Amino acid sequence: MFLVGGILILFSVAVYALASLTLIAEIDESLEQIWVELQKVTRISPRGDVELITPNITFNQNVVVQVWRNGLLIGGSTNAGQINRPLDESSVQTAEAIYRDVYLEDLHVRVLSVPLLVSGRPFATFQIGTNMSVVDGTEKDLLRTLAVASIVAIAFAGVLSWIGTHRALRPLDAVTKTALQITTANDLSRRIPLVGPADDEVGQLVQSFNQTLGRLEELIDTQRRFVADVGHELRTPLTVIKGNVDLMRRIGADEEFFESIESEVDRLTRMVGDLMLLAQAESGKLPMARKMVDLDTVLLEVFRQMKVLAKDQIKLKIGDIDQVLVCGDRDRLKQVLVNLISNAIKYTPSGGEVVITLGKQGNQGRLIVTDNGPGIPPADLPHIFERFYRGEKSRIRSKDGKGFGLGLSIAYWIVKGHDGRIEVSSEVGQGTTFCVWLPLTEGECQDLPMMV
Ligand code: ADP
Repeated sequence: MFLVGGILILFSVAVYALASLTLIAEIDESLEQIWVELQKVTRISPRGDVELITPNITFNQNVVVQVWRNGLLIGGSTNAGQINRPLDESSVQTAEAIYRDVYLEDLHVRVLSVPLLVSGRPFATFQIGTNMSVVDGTEKDLLRTLAVASIVAIAFAGVLSWIGTHRALRPLDAVTKTALQITTANDLSRRIPLVGPADDEVGQLVQSFNQTLGRLEELIDTQRRFVADVGHELRTPLTVIKGNVDLMRRIGADEEFFESIESEVDRLTRMVGDLMLLAQAESGKLPMARKMVDLDTVLLEVFRQMKVLAKDQIKLKIGDIDQVLVCGDRDRLKQVLVNLISNAIKYTPSGGEVVITLGKQGNQGRLIVTDNGPGIPPADLPHIFERFYRGEKSRIRSKDGKGFGLGLSIAYWIVKGHDGRIEVSSEVGQGTTFCVWLPLTEGECQDLPMMV
């Protein structure tokens, strides 16, 4: 409103000034025109009087002409008789043309005082005056019109901007209210209703806000589940430890109890280690070295270790193996292989077979771990990479009972940190295949630390 007001005032001043100047310039021009006409009909009698052959010139009623010589009125227009003093007192004797505004009582008159030259010398002074009331009236009207128009325009701009802002900001009111409700009710499941188009600024704000709420809800939900899972997982070993300690106290220490306690403590330590690793990975702070890794060598190393775990009960075999070079963290990649192969061995019943192959496809290295175990039910399949997720059957069948449901999450995050991906396909009763894709490297690795 202020801006519109300022612009209008500037504009009005400019219009008014321009109009006044133009009107005065026109008046001055008409006065000069009259002077030109007057010169044509002016005679100087031998006595030295100035005669105006008035019938030849018709003056406008508003124009008065006076002829002054040596302070005496020696001629003039017929209507000049009403005024018996010079129109412009200060220019009764002048050597050049002068335009001046004078006030005769209340009458505003524009006067041109001009010398009549005879033989190049001023002989008499002509004063031609014109009534300015019409011009004054026009100026006054213009001023009034500009003022009224400006006030109306400012008021209109004010009302329009008030309505516009109110309309534009009303949806934000809903956003604020919902945000406050969420805070007071501690209820992240609420969403802001989308009124109006989805692609305008407010619609986009509402959508982004709702997305943020969704993400927050998800995060807090994960956090809650995480705490519940950790509590649940810690309870069992702690109960065992407490039971054993009680028993030891009652019957005196025995090596068997120490072993049991040690194994539970080891289990807890492993779980805490895994949890810390996952927490780092999920918050994007898991540091990883970036070196050239010969995946086939790592695979053979893991294969030897896993042979011990498989004992004679599972046939652990290497299928095709190719040289595969990737950039990454050797220990972490080894952990991926260990987790996948140990799962295959763990979940495949005695007499089963686990086959590992390593090859290349395009610019990707591909590691496949296949078993002919029980498979993963379709309902479990989308969740197995979530932390603490364990298939119901696996809990029962798992041979060592020592899984926490963290192995695949860790594998997932490590592979993701290497710009790779991990896929699974499984059929109940037929077996499971995990496939890890990692980008190949040919040249040197940039020795920059990576973060997952
Ligand atoms: P854990 O093995 O500790 O339970 P993981 O994260 O390694 O946790 O695996 C999650 C779940 O995925 C397992 O509980 C199991 O149900 C399923 N799973 C993983 N690998 C296999 C496999 N080779 N065969 C059958 N089920 C598997």
